[in-house]
Amino acid sequence: MIEGTTSHPSGEDVRMRGFSRRTTVEAALAWLDARLETLQSEPVPLSEAAGRVLAGNVQSQVDVPGFDRAMMDGYAVVAADTLGASAYNRLPLEIVGQVLPGQPLDRAIKKGQAARIMTGAPLPEGADAVLPAELTEADGGRVYARGELSPGKHVGKQGEDISAEAVVLAASRRLRPQDIGVLSSIGVAQVEVVRRPRVRLVVTGDELLPPGSTPRGCQIADSNSPMLAALVGRDGGVAVSSGIVPDQPEAILAAMRDEADIILVSGGSSVGQEDYAPRLLAQHGELAIHGVAMRPSSPAGMGQLDGRLVILLPGNPVSCLCAYDFFAGRAIRALAGRDKDWPHRRVKLPLSRKLVSVVGRVDYARVKLEGKSVQPLAISGASVLTSTTRADGFVIIPANSEGQPEGTEVEVLLYD
Ligand code: AMP
Ligand code: MG
Repeated sequence: MIEGTTSHPSGEDVRMRGFSRRTTVEAALAWLDARLETLQSEPVPLSEAAGRVLAGNVQSQVDVPGFDRAMMDGYAVVAADTLGASAYNRLPLEIVGQVLPGQPLDRAIKKGQAARIMTGAPLPEGADAVLPAELTEADGGRVYARGELSPGKHVGKQGEDISAEAVVLAASRRLRPQDIGVLSSIGVAQVEVVRRPRVRLVVTGDELLPPGSTPRGCQIADSNSPMLAALVGRDGGVAVSSGIVPDQPEAILAAMRDEADIILVSGGSSVGQEDYAPRLLAQHGELAIHGVAMRPSSPAGMGQLDGRLVILLPGNPVSCLCAYDFFAGRAIRALAGRDKDWPHRRVKLPLSRKLVSVVGRVDYARVKLEGKSVQPLAISGASVLTSTTRADGFVIIPANSEGQPEGTEVEVLLYD
């Protein structure tokens, strides 16, 4: 066991009597953080790169645009030719050709000349401005300028968007759709991104039926596998399921021994008769933390097996979600090269009722937003999964707090 433990608060959660001391959330996070390193990179085609994390800086080899171009439809001209032009002083120019995007003019523009030009087309040699169509009147082979231009007007300069050698996107950036567009514009066909962590789900319980089954008798349908798979996906990992693993030590150990980057065990993580995972970890690897001063999720644990991180999540679905979010999600985000902090959007609003807690443990309190205030849900049981679906988010109450009186502004982390 490690530093940072609290004694067991008396009289609550009978199942937890077996834990004589519990590690603080802070100490558990410190243990975990010391073992988290961003995974290696892998190349992916641009079509699969959205949402991935860039492994290194991307530098452009080219200017964008690669040539001076028209920013308006109109006429490529020599700006000096338009000096003094107005609606009352139309100045004539000779039309010598037409420039389209991708089709440069085969000659230079001289004084007194103009070429029709479309937005995005390369500015012909000799021209230094674009006279917008609305400032002109065409008349056969001539066009009249009805306005004055300064050099460079309505011209996009070569390299004005991206210049060669510039760092276009920096390492650690999570690629957005527009980033993919920019990468394509500089000729990048594949990028180096952080490999996605492979996350082995070991969901245990003899009473469990496969996800989606209709519960029968004393059997219950597995909520945690699909919930964990969705959470892992949210955090940038790839969940790999072992199906439902029976409460047998050999089966659990075999499922835990996997070529994954991190192993999540759901259920059988406490100190009861059928709780094999902590003992297996202690026997074959390292059980660094078992029992955390928090609610729900106090039976959570973590350690290592064959050099891999293993997180023990309680089977109770709410505890499982909470322990995932406190520990497993953080680890997966860090491996994936993302910010390891909570990914949830946050709002600060006053409490409509008092929010109760107990000194000595961190509380994960589900709350509902009611207009501009926060209503704590009166649910303490860890097995009521719908407490998380009725809630809009949760408030983390620190271990040193007895809760907050009505009216106090609290920070809510939103589930959506
Ligand atoms: P355990 O942590 O294995 O002692 O399980 C605690 C409670 O959570 C028991 O009531 C289990 O039936 C329930 N439970 C365990 N695993 C799951 C699961 N995957 N889905 C839904 N409930 C579960
Ligand atoms: Mg169980």
